[in-house]
Amino acid sequence: NVAPNDLSAFWMPFTANRQFKQTPRMLVAAKDMHYTASDGRQVLDGTAGLWCVNAGHCRPKITEAIQRQAAELDYAPAFQMGHPVVFELANRLVDIAPEGMDHVFFTNSGSESVETALKIALAYHRVRGEGSRTRLIGRERGYHGVNFGGISVGGIVANRKMFGTLLNGVDHLPHTHLPAKNAFTRGVPEHGAELADELERIVTLHDASTIAAVIVEPMAGSTGVLIPPKGYLQRLRDICTKHGILLIFDEVITGFGRLGTPFAADYFGVTPDIMVTAKGVSNGVIPLGAVFVKKEIHDAFMTGPEHLIEFFHGYTYSGNPIASAAAIATLDTYKEEGLLTRGAELASYWEDALHSLKDARHVIDIRNIGLVGAIELQPLEGHPTKRAFTAFIKAFEKGLLIRTTGDIIALSPPLIVEKEQIDEIVDCIRDVLQTID
Ligand code: PMP
Repeated sequence: NVAPNDLSAFWMPFTANRQFKQTPRMLVAAKDMHYTASDGRQVLDGTAGLWCVNAGHCRPKITEAIQRQAAELDYAPAFQMGHPVVFELANRLVDIAPEGMDHVFFTNSGSESVETALKIALAYHRVRGEGSRTRLIGRERGYHGVNFGGISVGGIVANRKMFGTLLNGVDHLPHTHLPAKNAFTRGVPEHGAELADELERIVTLHDASTIAAVIVEPMAGSTGVLIPPKGYLQRLRDICTKHGILLIFDEVITGFGRLGTPFAADYFGVTPDIMVTAKGVSNGVIPLGAVFVKKEIHDAFMTGPEHLIEFFHGYTYSGNPIASAAAIATLDTYKEEGLLTRGAELASYWEDALHSLKDARHVIDIRNIGLVGAIELQPLEGHPTKRAFTAFIKAFEKGLLIRTTGDIIALSPPLIVEKEQIDEIVDCIRDVLQTID
């Protein structure tokens, strides 16, 4: 066990840093659905780590694949060289990807996947002689990681306001969450698809010939589980297609079974041009990201005259053998255990369990989709976020890991979760809410 005073050199890169150092919550081991805390307690993982450990923790197949690969071919240069493991992985990923997403570019994280997608989008227009398409459109409350491109298109003003102008030429669509009215309860959003038409207004304002891409999370996770109204994504798709704008889905959270389908594109029946993934691609246990693109996009770079000169992009660790081996073992596990569709099997149980909290103390809204849930609390007057954060601390003490964002409790258990564990999650939250002011 690590004593708190051993943390002096460690900088947790968050505002939560100070608070963490005061009361560190340490995890020392994990297995399947549980963490072991430093005091030996078992803690049920209600969040799959950070929305990433979809197949559960320390799965032997994945661990062994990492060990085997590390002993056999630990590293191969990512430029000009190849190795069979990454080719196999790319083919395996394309096999489960939505129709038409035929090529994969590897990165090491969600943030890098976002940057890669934005650069591919801009470069794609350029190699096709449409270099005037430089504008990007994100969405309010969208989260796309922490790098400069990602915070520019991201819709969280607080994350970018201290960094100046960032990327020029970015607009943000209005987000779809109108509290209590448009909450996605019982899967029947009442209205809001027309919010997508705001894209037409932006196109008119700037002219379609200046717009490169629109990037959205199909379901915004980190900002509180905001589920688009029915038809919203299809309307975005139609407007993008009409104006030659690329549609990018950031599926860092929704990818790999979180909604009960392999990808959110499958869930909503809308295929983007570029699909950004990370987290679940390697079960979250080793850094890896994968950006999927449609054939036309890939082919434009292979045949376009300027591609060699203009598009330099890639990372030292892009598609490295150990991460690739971990991802193949992850895909094997998903397949063998049916995990990419397990969320659909459990969705109604999950929904009923979550909605049994509707009369619990402080709860003002409950949202669910696949194996994702959000329990929105009435903020404590004068102390926004405090109530949810207290719930987080107390739940951890009682043996449950939840995640909070603002006054919203977000849940996304590993896809191996059992019904009894869903009950345990909900009961624990109910008890915790009962005890806090
Ligand atoms: N996009 C989305 C939708 C995310 O949820 C996240 C991480 N939560 C990221 C991008 C960034 O991923 P990473 O932290 O791996 O850089």
